[in-house]
Formats: sequence, C-alpha cells, structure tokens
Amino acid sequence: MQILVQKFGGISVQSAENRKHVIRHIQKAKKEGFKIVIVVSALGRKPDPYATDTLVELVQHTHGAVSRRELDLLMSCGETIAAVILSAELQQRQVKAMALTGAQAGIVTNADYNQAKIKAIVPQRIKETLETHDVVVVAGFQGQTSAGDTTTLGRGGSDTTAAALGAAFQAERIEIFTDVQGIMTADPRMVKQAKPIKTATYTEICNLAYQGAKVIHPRAVEIAMQAGIPMQIRSVYMDDMGTRIDAGNNRWHVSERLVTGIAHTPAIVQLCIETEAEPLRLQPAIFKAMAETGISVDFISISPSRVIFTVAERVADQAIHILQTLDMKVAVTPDCAKVSAVGAGMRDIPGVASKIVSALTDAGVQILQAADSHTTIWVLIHGKDVHRAVNAMHAIFELDHVNV
Ligand code: ASP
Ligand code: MG
Repeated sequence: MQILVQKFGGISVQSAENRKHVIRHIQKAKKEGFKIVIVVSALGRKPDPYATDTLVELVQHTHGAVSRRELDLLMSCGETIAAVILSAELQQRQVKAMALTGAQAGIVTNADYNQAKIKAIVPQRIKETLETHDVVVVAGFQGQTSAGDTTTLGRGGSDTTAAALGAAFQAERIEIFTDVQGIMTADPRMVKQAKPIKTATYTEICNLAYQGAKVIHPRAVEIAMQAGIPMQIRSVYMDDMGTRIDAGNNRWHVSERLVTGIAHTPAIVQLCIETEAEPLRLQPAIFKAMAETGISVDFISISPSRVIFTVAERVADQAIHILQTLDMKVAVTPDCAKVSAVGAGMRDIPGVASKIVSALTDAGVQILQAADSHTTIWVLIHGKDVHRAVNAMHAIFELDHVNV
C-alpha cells in the first residue's frame, strides 16, 4: 500500500470554496493510486468561529482558571470539526473517507499539555481503515496520553502530526499545503523580490523555520528528516509542487548555492552584565538564574569583563528583575531583531561573513552582535533596521536572481 500524507492548513480548509481545491488535490492523489492520510488544521483564523484562537477566547473571561489539560480539550475541538467536515464533503463526492481524532489515529503523547510530544504512533486503526477506504482524515494538532487525556502539540502542531504519520507509515512523501507558493527566500511582505525555493535540505528549512520563517513548524521538519521522508511545501491553489525538502544527496547545486534564504525574528532584547569584579562567580550565577526561571537565552557572548545575551521581549522584564535582585548591573538594549542567513553551501566557504558585514554597513545597519554555525549566520540589529537588513542580505546573495 503506497501512502501519501497531505496536510491542509487553516486557510485551505476555511471555506467550502477553498475546500474544493483541497478535494481536487486529494482526488488527484487517489487517481495516482495512493492511499491518503489527510491531516487538517482548524477552520480559518480568528475571528472565524472554530479557529484555535477563537476557541481559546471562549474561556478568557475566567482569567486563567482553566487548566492546561482542559484548555487542550477545548483547543482540540477545532481540528475535530475540520476533519468531520472534510470527510463528509469527500464522501459526498464518492471518495471513501473516514474522520479520525488524533487519539483514534493512534497518536500517543506525553502529558505536557499545550505542548505535548508524540511518544508513539499506534498504526493499527489507520492501517485497517485504509484497507476499505481511500482516505483517512486525521484531526491535526491533537493526541492522547496513555491515560486517555486529550493533548495538543503546540501551536502550528498540525504539521507535526503530518510528519509523524508520514514517518510512521513510511509515506512516499509528506505534502504540506498552504496559501503561499512554498518556502520563500525571505518574507515576501518584506522583500518584494523574494522567490519560492525549489529544493532545500531538511537542515536548511529547519533553521529557517526556527529563525522565523512561518510556513512550516521546525519540529515537523526534524521528524521527516529522522525518518528520511521527503516533504513538499506547496500552494493549495496550484498544481506547482512548491518547495521540495530532502537530504539533498546528489544535488550539486545545493552546495553551489551559498545562501538559501533570509529569516528574521523581531521582539528581542539584549542584556549586558558587567562581570569585571568577579567573573568566576557571576558568569555561572547569571545563566543559572535564567535556567531556573525557564528563560531561554540566545546570542551568548562571555568574556571576563562582561556577559552579553538576548532574551525574547515577552520575558525581558522578568529576566532583568531577577538579575537586579542578584545585585547585578544590567545594561538593556530593547527592541532588537535577529536576521539570519541560512544555507548548507556556506560551510567552509570563506567570505560569507565579510559579505554580510559589508552589505549591512553599506545599508546603514549597525550590527550589535553576530554568531554563526556551519549553515547559519545570525546578526542582531536594532528593530527599526529590520527591513533594510533583510533586503540588503537578500540582495547581496543574489536571491532574487537565481532560480532556487
Ligand atoms: N490549529 C492549530 C494552531 O492554530 C494547529 C495548526 O494549525 O497547525 O496552532
Ligand atoms: Mg501552520
């Protein structure tokens, strides 16, 4: 049995009109001889009645009285509704379909409510159903603990459901349908010349996703990578295959291409702590305090005289307060942003950093900090410069010219 996984996001299933495109893709895959595991997100976006954020709003007046466990029960309803509607519309068109909740689909998670991790997939039910049906429509984003409680996988988690099912069933590929053409070389709202990326490696897309590219959940890419199942990120409105993501073996142009895309993350705060007096005591104390409060740190730079790092804006006040209570002197640079250039081809190639520094300097962008790995270079800049920085980096690597 050859299995294809197709995941449809909230906008794709938002209206009967949009679902006609969804159904067309499913019918096409059926004609090609596949058994299809469909994964759906909740219908639309707030203020649509069954969108995840709309459901969450239903308990807002209780000011946090709702437990994380019960919030999951509420949030999971959106995907269940979507699965039933799509399944009914498929059956109406003589496609043999059955809707399944995450639990019925065999998705077993831990009990970390609101951001549960998939522990196992019990494949029996889907396997048996596909012997008599063309399609199973699985409610994305949800799972069940071994004790029988409903969980959700973290925002954007339907991608994770799709990847996990693709891995469990050794699918031919995992297709993620969305309302854009694929993964772009930069956010097209920011860079007019941004182009869809045709092929990329798991690592590149994972990095782009972690650095702020929104089209796919990075966890989903990791799961597909571990299982070696190719992914295709594509538009529900087109037949074009969009972006193909795989290991990139035998693809010479991946290594010819220095940079694949530019991502950015706003709302970052840089903290600088003087440690000159007692570096050996202060250095560990700073990071211990952050770790104990569950604040994740980035752009870490440690020298005997000072420690510099960044935190997300939403936890900045808390971080500053904790450090001050420990009698530390904290200098704060608010409203920063991180811009990342990602590309598997930059490994061991000299001159990448030089290009970035020159491009940003020419564009009048001040670099506050920088860091790099073998596939990514990050720069921290003032938030007001993001637009210029992303465009300058996009241009210097000629991402608008090449057919990526
Ligand atoms: N509906 C969920 C969310 O909005 C899951 C998803 O769409 O992937 O986060
Ligand atoms: Mg999504």
